Amino acid sequence: MHVLVIEDEPKVAQALMQGLESENYQVSLSVTGEEGYFLATTQAFDLIILDLMLPGRDGLDILTALRQQECQTPVLVLTAKDAIEDRVIGLDTGADDYLVKPFAFPELLARIRALTRRGRPEQALRLKIADLEMDCVTRKVARKGQDIELTAKEFQLLEYLLRHQGHVVSREMLGRDVWEAVDRATPLDNVIDVHIARLRQKVDAPFKKKLLKTIRGMGFVLKEGEV
Ligand code: CA
Repeated sequence: MHVLVIEDEPKVAQALMQGLESENYQVSLSVTGEEGYFLATTQAFDLIILDLMLPGRDGLDILTALRQQECQTPVLVLTAKDAIEDRVIGLDTGADDYLVKPFAFPELLARIRALTRRGRPEQALRLKIADLEMDCVTRKVARKGQDIELTAKEFQLLEYLLRHQGHVVSREMLGRDVWEAVDRATPLDNVIDVHIARLRQKVDAPFKKKLLKTIRGMGFVLKEGEV
């Protein structure tokens, strides 16, 4: 599996290189947009990890050009925290998924696996379990075709659960990846539980089939049927 990383920040680039190589990915690194674009159009890659904020030719420009050239390689975009517009533009431009910096490495690996596993890249932007659907671009959630209003945090929590559906998600994972808490403190567990309860109230309570389950002593799982 050959991954092209286009990232100008030395620390992030280094961490990506080391992390991916330790997972047995073959990595090529470009620290400028120009070079990245050149590599992307002259060599075959299984995945491109593209930082949007690059000196000179920026990420969106590269992405637009690649898609115009009919380059079908999955692209995972890295954006700065809270640059929501960038994200939306990136997805409209043809990115397959995005990750907000700073990100947890296991989360990056999960996204990479999802992107490289499936043939149809657009799937990652529409998540689904049973009759519950999430559109990550328009940020809409619906169940049985009924719109469900979620707060930003509830949305983030549900997206995480959907991306890990069928697998138990611990409070520790939620604290790290959704709340981005470095030191997990007991009060955060309560915050997580409150959000889970509210989410359950909205996505499960009005419906017969329950999807969000609590696994005592372990965490939560979004799953159809028995656990
Ligand atoms: Ca950058």
